[in-house]
Amino acid sequence: MPDSAVAPAPSDSLDNPLLQAWLTPFETPPFEQIAPQHFLPAFEQAFADHTAEIAAITNDPSAPDFANTITALERSGRLLNRVAAVFYDLVSADSNPALLEIDTEVSQRMARHWNPIMMNAALFGRIALLYGLRSKLELSAEQLRLLERTYTRFHRAGAGLDAKAKARMAAINERLAELGTAFSHHLLGDEQDWVMQLGEDDCAGLSDSFVAAAKAAAAERGLQGKAVVTLSRSSVEPFLKSSTRRDLREKVYKAFTARGNNGNANDNIAVISEILQLREETAKLLGFASFAEYRLEDSMAKTPQAVRGLLERVWKPARARALADRDALQQLVAEDGGNFKLAAWDWRYYAEKLRQRRANFDDAAIKPYLALDNMIDAAFDTATKLFGVKFSERKDVPVWHPDVRVWEVFDAAGTHKGLFYGDYFARPSKRSGAWMTSLRDQQKLDGVVAPLIINVCNFAKGNNGEPALLSPDDARTLFHEFGHGLHGMLSDVVYPSLSGTAVFTDFVELPSQLYEHWQEQPQVLRQFAKHYQTGEPLPDDLLQRFLAARKFNQGFATVEFVSSALLDLEFHTQPASAIGDIADFERRELEKIGMPEEIAMRHRPTQFGHIFSGDHYASGYYSYMWSEVMDADAFGAFEEAGDIFDSKVAKRLHDDIYAAGGARDPEVAYVAFRGRPPEPDALLRRRGLLDTPEAA
Ligand SMILES: [Zn+2]
Repeated sequence: MPDSAVAPAPSDSLDNPLLQAWLTPFETPPFEQIAPQHFLPAFEQAFADHTAEIAAITNDPSAPDFANTITALERSGRLLNRVAAVFYDLVSADSNPALLEIDTEVSQRMARHWNPIMMNAALFGRIALLYGLRSKLELSAEQLRLLERTYTRFHRAGAGLDAKAKARMAAINERLAELGTAFSHHLLGDEQDWVMQLGEDDCAGLSDSFVAAAKAAAAERGLQGKAVVTLSRSSVEPFLKSSTRRDLREKVYKAFTARGNNGNANDNIAVISEILQLREETAKLLGFASFAEYRLEDSMAKTPQAVRGLLERVWKPARARALADRDALQQLVAEDGGNFKLAAWDWRYYAEKLRQRRANFDDAAIKPYLALDNMIDAAFDTATKLFGVKFSERKDVPVWHPDVRVWEVFDAAGTHKGLFYGDYFARPSKRSGAWMTSLRDQQKLDGVVAPLIINVCNFAKGNNGEPALLSPDDARTLFHEFGHGLHGMLSDVVYPSLSGTAVFTDFVELPSQLYEHWQEQPQVLRQFAKHYQTGEPLPDDLLQRFLAARKFNQGFATVEFVSSALLDLEFHTQPASAIGDIADFERRELEKIGMPEEIAMRHRPTQFGHIFSGDHYASGYYSYMWSEVMDADAFGAFEEAGDIFDSKVAKRLHDDIYAAGGARDPEVAYVAFRGRPPEPDALLRRRGLLDTPEAA
């Protein structure tokens, strides 16, 4: 029967797997039964349930107490969490046109659902009353933290404003949701519209694996038998690094840095201006001078001044190093017989040449030793040595794509701790990048809930049944995402909203970036980096050259990152009226910091999805570096102990960082682990920038 002929029957929920109990191992989502048409009805049911739960808390005739207000809020919205977790996993990792269409509708419905809850005066009245009495309520440390976080969340969402201001905030939130979606759709549009076909003569310098990937990319676009460069970073960066054709490098570089800024229907300039104006208006409604002041109040950094202080401290030595490297690259151009001034599209190419010369190392040499399975084993074994957790693969847990693998996680005593899903390979239905997410978070409010944690990556599959071989960057990404994964798996809190990665944005990269350190330890590489054909361990000489090459080109990497972070901060500190034309503003700000013209920002404004496709990283792009100050310093604790798996240090790391979720103030947690606040020099040392002339 065609859909249009059937009215929704009352028994619909019986046919909707999202609304039923999951009779699968560990009550995981039964992916093979879930279809796109199940989502909208499930969301409607979930919104209705949640609204009723909130009304019951708000209208409770008894006096507010912790249990009937704060704990009750923690218990609310379970169905919504369950449906949304499955939905967003699929939209990001295995999407299709039907899901993307629903996505637009869901994001609008979400804003409309949450606005009246977060601005509910009666509910906020109950929370504020408890917050005022908090020292007299005899709460546990975690309960006190939960009360503070709940109050702060509602307060910062505008729950305490008058009716007129609230109405304006609600309108702004809906408009910002729309603008953020438009920003990402524009960017995606510009990326999808452009390809550069590679003819016979255009492949000079390119590796076989690059050409194979370029052919696969062409086939996906219906260009069978051809090869294309696309505007994804994973296509552009290796091309710029290896193509000997300077004219083609220029073409690709210019198209890549012009995304969202082509004066066509996908142009993001007007979108950015409106976003900045509305964010500033939000901040002012809430009593802040700028969006950055509003945003950073609820972070470890606390103020724009603190962020600027860190970025400028790193900027000076990084810029000095980059300028010295630029001169060396220019000399290489001359030695090569080139009669031109080094341009931005030449940097990666000549830097790679210089690296091969100085460190006598190129990535292709080590790849055969970095088979995906070996690196997964290395990541697991590191967790076993540090935290006692063990992993055992399960074949009976439903997954969203046949490539997804699942492991059961046990603690040292052999007790079930959760599940870990690894979705490692690139495919057209997956968005680019790598991330950690969850289908269910750890908590023990009403009995132990074991987490379901996901890592998604975009590694290239091996050809013809060969194992997938990772680049050094891929291997580092695997450890990074697994570090986030451990933050979710080891979480040991009572309340769901404090679970795992529910921490400040400038703290959340600590568990992930810290974990990267083990990936590059000789002890780990000697054990797990084995040749995929011969089983031979990584030769010592190659290992030493690999480690030496890691510090190479750090001036460039730091400059491209910090310039983006500084611009993000300026966008959200300066009055929107003073910013004016976005392109002019970008030029002025880069001139102010002395940006080397041979280096582009990692993200130019019209393609800066971190800060414009949503507000999570808005005036928060610095967070990676803030966390890096801590991770570089934190790994020092193991080095000082003389053992990268020292059990005492690992125990503190587990208790104070990985298991603590958001149940403690991050600064207090860090000091508990390290015995003192972090020392910023460790970051400069790790990036090899401590010995530059301006690094004092
Ligand atoms: Zn991360």
